[in-house]
Amino acid sequence: MSKRTGYISWDTYFMRMAETSSQRSKDPNTQVGACVVGEENMILGIGYNGFPRGCSDDEFPWEKPDKYLYVCHAEMNALLNSNYLNLVKGSKIYVTLFPCNNCAKIIIQLGVNEVIYLDDKYKDSIENIASRKMFDAVGIKYWQYIYPENESRKVIIEINSKDESDVKCIQMPNDVEVEFRQIYE
Ligand SMILES: [Zn+2]
Repeated sequence: MSKRTGYISWDTYFMRMAETSSQRSKDPNTQVGACVVGEENMILGIGYNGFPRGCSDDEFPWEKPDKYLYVCHAEMNALLNSNYLNLVKGSKIYVTLFPCNNCAKIIIQLGVNEVIYLDDKYKDSIENIASRKMFDAVGIKYWQYIYPENESRKVIIEINSKDESDVKCIQMPNDVEVEFRQIYE
């Protein structure tokens, strides 16, 4: 018997790990996940955005701009919580959102040499421009991951209402194909 076909690629595997991690975030506005991958495709660390250890999710503020004072970004958590910090040099990081300038600094200082991101909706912000400037200066490769068609995800939403606008408020990640099916009778 020959091996199974149709299995997902490494890139899809790691990006989905980052996405799964993002779903642990308690941030009501932005959920980001990251997955650090070393040699031999070994996962070295995984993380999502949240308050520092011991700072209660119920006591610290989730409102902007107050939360910015406290939240640790996914990249920082994935890197600094790695069990294999000594192996991070030369690794790759998969992240669901292009890194901000502060995470870019950590990525550089720990010797990560490739950044693979899913979304770059803040690409024109001064933070992202600064990240790219630093990545370019030190030769860190960065590129956007687009799920191959056969690895993309599809959600079918059955609408039990005459009014489709009832469900149009549902938000999905960019790579998720959404199909609405009317089941109202
Ligand atoms: Zn960041």
